[in-house]
Amino acid sequence: KGVVHKICAGQVILDLSSAVKELVENSLDAGATSIEISLRDYGEESFQVVDNGCGISPNNFKVLALRHHTSKLAEFHDLQSLTTFGFRGEALSSLCSLGNLTIETRTKNEAVATLLTFDRTGLLIKEEKTARKIGSTVMVKKLFANLPVRSKEFHRNIRKEYGKLVSLLNAYALIAKGVRIVCSNTTGKNTKSVVLKTQGSGSLKDNIITVFGMDTFSSLEPISLCISGGCKLDGFLSKPGYGSGRYMSDRQFFFVNGRPVDMPKVGKLVNELYKGANSRQFPIAILDFTLPSRACDVNVTPDKRKIFFSEESTIFDSLREALQNIYSPGHV
Ligand code: ADP
Ligand code: MG
Repeated sequence: KGVVHKICAGQVILDLSSAVKELVENSLDAGATSIEISLRDYGEESFQVVDNGCGISPNNFKVLALRHHTSKLAEFHDLQSLTTFGFRGEALSSLCSLGNLTIETRTKNEAVATLLTFDRTGLLIKEEKTARKIGSTVMVKKLFANLPVRSKEFHRNIRKEYGKLVSLLNAYALIAKGVRIVCSNTTGKNTKSVVLKTQGSGSLKDNIITVFGMDTFSSLEPISLCISGGCKLDGFLSKPGYGSGRYMSDRQFFFVNGRPVDMPKVGKLVNELYKGANSRQFPIAILDFTLPSRACDVNVTPDKRKIFFSEESTIFDSLREALQNIYSPGHV
């Protein structure tokens, strides 16, 4: 049974960035306006996410990290109108099986916080009183240490994993409105470096300026589309001639209804049409789609990064036309 759990867990938490992503999404679901991610040795030793969200109520302590426990409604018909990131109750239980999980938390109804320690199966094994402001700190030590193959792989790819994580956090920093996000890494010799720091501004534009700087923002052109069927697209793209010679997967971000998602087809379309205007260059693309819930389904892969559209061809046609207007005026 333990093995089955390990295998299943491995599908929710694939790597460092999917682990941290789950914690950041829990903080966002908890209504946090400040989220601080701190890594030790690029996340290999430990990582923690500190938020000022609603905290966890003591009635939930025991069941918190049990498989399929969620405080977010998970009735099937609710998936259509899902407003939270989480709904399956798998992240904390997976993290327990993959590393050492502790949570420090306090709601507005408690005078003191509680430090909770869980075992590999998600069982609560220790509860201690501690001091903390309202919110939660979720800490994971030694991710993958009990899976020798995965652990070796993690160690070998740690810089790459870390890069992927920073890029993912950039995505949240771009799309989250009014949420301060800070990420730092401390290496063995206690040198701490802050890799991302935003103040939680209220617009995509301001977030782009904080994350990538004013110079980069000036090289972008806004795009805003109303697509039939209640679909909308807002975003920013490199102006013709302002792309980079290197493929910037770390500068192409796609969102659907506020969630960072993978959209390889959209990325391909953007690159192709941009190249038409300027060969061997790749544009920055930050595209935020607003789709009515009946037009998309994010519940496709365990990490919720893939997405299905029912209006895909309409959306593509509108996007193609708009990109042609930007990158090869006169073409249409
Ligand atoms: P899910 O997000 O799908 O509900 P998780 O395993 O990620 O499942 O989390 C389990 C439960 O733990 C959540 O439903 C929530 O009640 C609680 N929780 C986890 N992290 C936090 C947090 N940072 N703040 C408040 N509650 C949290
Ligand atoms: Mg969750």
